Amino acid sequence: MHTRSLAILRMLLFVSLGACFAAAPSHAQTVALRAGHLIDPGTGTVAANQIILITGKKITDVGPALAIPKEAVVIDLSSEWVMPGIMDAHTHVTQSVRYFRELDHNYLVESTGFRSLRGLHTAQTLLNAGITTVRDVGNDANFAAVDLRKAIDAGWFIGPTVQTAGKIIAPFGGQSRGIPPEIGPFWQFEYYDADSPEEIRHAVRENIFYGADLIKLVADNSDYHYSVDDVRAAVDEAHHAGRAVAVHVLGGEAADNVIAAGVDSIEHGFFLTDAQLTRMKEKGMFLSGTDFPIEHFEVGEIGNGELMGKAIVDRLRRAYAVGVKMAFGTDIVTDYRDENRADMTWDYLRVWRAAGVPPAEVLRCMTTNDAELFRIAKDRGAIAKGLYADIIAMPSNPLDDTESLRLVNFVMKNGAIVRKP
Ligand SMILES: [Zn+2]
Repeated sequence: MHTRSLAILRMLLFVSLGACFAAAPSHAQTVALRAGHLIDPGTGTVAANQIILITGKKITDVGPALAIPKEAVVIDLSSEWVMPGIMDAHTHVTQSVRYFRELDHNYLVESTGFRSLRGLHTAQTLLNAGITTVRDVGNDANFAAVDLRKAIDAGWFIGPTVQTAGKIIAPFGGQSRGIPPEIGPFWQFEYYDADSPEEIRHAVRENIFYGADLIKLVADNSDYHYSVDDVRAAVDEAHHAGRAVAVHVLGGEAADNVIAAGVDSIEHGFFLTDAQLTRMKEKGMFLSGTDFPIEHFEVGEIGNGELMGKAIVDRLRRAYAVGVKMAFGTDIVTDYRDENRADMTWDYLRVWRAAGVPPAEVLRCMTTNDAELFRIAKDRGAIAKGLYADIIAMPSNPLDDTESLRLVNFVMKNGAIVRKP
């Protein structure tokens, strides 16, 4: 197809998304953003009165006194705080339950196609709120998030950049518990059972073959857990294929094994000791802490909620004190009361505040740190010449109070305007 027709088609597609998504500029259109306050989360600094030039999908220049081309579309954000789009290191966009205990049931009653469509709905809700990149760490039926990523990358739908872990690799049983033997291993719809280094290598390869961008292990869901050699097999196989390894582990000996094996991120890690956090720091390993607000759970669902809430805040405070690299991630799988998934994401900021992590550090974890963990820092996570234009803005300063993120009223994704004030 002719380039011009493609550009028109793309524009029509964006228009057809409906009222909440504004039309994107045509492909080679230049857009100039007048940014009153431009935040660099990497350094925690703010530059006043900057101009950001975007042509196509990428940022072509940033500076205080740039000449704006005559044909450029100018967007006035002179009273706004402008920053790179937010990222989430641990999501499950195709999954939704009212309670955690419904997860097993969900594996049986929802098709992969239905999951992909929910993933699109959730991904667009997140993008509209300013979350421009998500890492989907499994529980997506038969690779539903791979199809979601492909559809967004093809330009059929506007959505965040999606990385997906495909099927989660775990010791026998996935993340199910207490299943009678006559029921059969239904969790294999969502998990690879892998119980030796050979089986783990095979599962990693199969995952990558079907489209996984990273590898996710669950190390300690049961009384048995992965050994150092088990986790090393996954790391060796994944790293040679250019993929990062994320591992669900809460603490104890399983966490020792995961740290020794040299994974890229520990997911959750609610009971990591200071010594374990220090070893992670020495190895440059990320903590993707999914530090959830206890209010998101029903009474009795996660044992003693009050104690768990205190443990999470305490671990986040200790992790910040130790100085381990942290990635912002949520692990939202529930749809809660009247909040959508974006509102739920901002609820996590309460926990970071309670742990005494300064706003500048929180914004860094949500942008540059996540981009480093996702291996996309040369493309995304900052506002600089040559990077993709994933840009958000809001009317108050998130460096004073991260609650400002709830007020995001400008979102640009790959140079396309998703919403504007
Ligand atoms: Zn999770």
